[in-house]
Amino acid sequence: MALAGYPLGLRFTFLDRTEDTPGGQLAEIITGDFDDPALLERLAAECDCLTFDWENVPVEPLKKLSGDTPILPPLAALETGQDRLAEKQLFARLGIPTAGYATVDSKAELAEAAGRLEYPCLLKTRRMGYDGKGQYMLRGEDDLEPAWEALGGTALILEEFVNFDYEVSQVAARSTRGETCFYPLARNVHKGGILHYSIAPWSAPVLETHAREYLEAMLEHFDYAGILTVEFFVCGERLIANEMAPRVHNSGHWTIEGAHTSQFENHVRGILGLPLGDPSARGHSAMVNLLGAMPELSALLDIQGAHVHDYGKSPRPLRKIGHCTLVCDEQADRDNKLQDLLELASTEID
Ligand code: AMP
Repeated sequence: MALAGYPLGLRFTFLDRTEDTPGGQLAEIITGDFDDPALLERLAAECDCLTFDWENVPVEPLKKLSGDTPILPPLAALETGQDRLAEKQLFARLGIPTAGYATVDSKAELAEAAGRLEYPCLLKTRRMGYDGKGQYMLRGEDDLEPAWEALGGTALILEEFVNFDYEVSQVAARSTRGETCFYPLARNVHKGGILHYSIAPWSAPVLETHAREYLEAMLEHFDYAGILTVEFFVCGERLIANEMAPRVHNSGHWTIEGAHTSQFENHVRGILGLPLGDPSARGHSAMVNLLGAMPELSALLDIQGAHVHDYGKSPRPLRKIGHCTLVCDEQADRDNKLQDLLELASTEID
């Protein structure tokens, strides 16, 4: 976000839990907890606008801030994105199809709900779940006990397992002036619940029309500003919403080089009430996440058209420590180079 904002003359201050974060390489960093009232007051006093790029930032301390520094995207969207139940209720209210579900607060409720939704089904924590964390797949009655042992004790939701063809995401931007724009649809491939790679633009005009209609309704509902992303399951010509992210999204990283204006730039433009930039694609892109450890830089750069992003994070198994984007004139060229890149980026996930 800072890399996108500096050319526009913007300045950034970050709050994060340690100094050793990507933001710390670029700007002043205030270190401490996201719910520390004094630090949040300091951040709000120093800035004209507050935003976030992680959806689990505690909402209550932000609501209590004394000044009138705007916080965008709106806290109502942040709050909804933190709770899978609130998300599903919003989808239902706006007529956006979503998987069947039941809330689960006891072992008896789990057995009853699994019987009703049928196996296989997925037990998920309502909060703090991402990248497939906090999920348990139930294939039959024998899984009830271990699933409850693994996740019981927190608020849970049981979801129907969607037998999807593939997954896509729609990234949209809206400004405080009410201007909206939509990025081309991206097709996403997950491995072990973690985004492995995205391909964009993904040409599926009927799906794209549905996706834009759904996001338009959400943007209006929240009087939104900034980037909003929704991940969908594709079943034939139908979209089933999986989850929303009120922030710049991993499946939109391809836009840095692959779109005329990146999601990061349109996020800062949107929250500051500046005109939005052209979201259309420059060519055929693919974005591959680099997890755990960085492949050799020269090997990545050997692939013509590859743009490497090393976040400078310390390596840890399955940690997202960078990504690499390909932008090609021809789709076939992109697809060939994607195979080379996937080989270099292959990790221990199955
Ligand atoms: P989530 O954390 O909800 O985004 O889930 C991570 C990944 O798990 C998704 O991108 C899907 O690949 C898979 N997944 C999640 N929920 C379901 C579901 N209800 N049916 C089938 N696959 C799912």
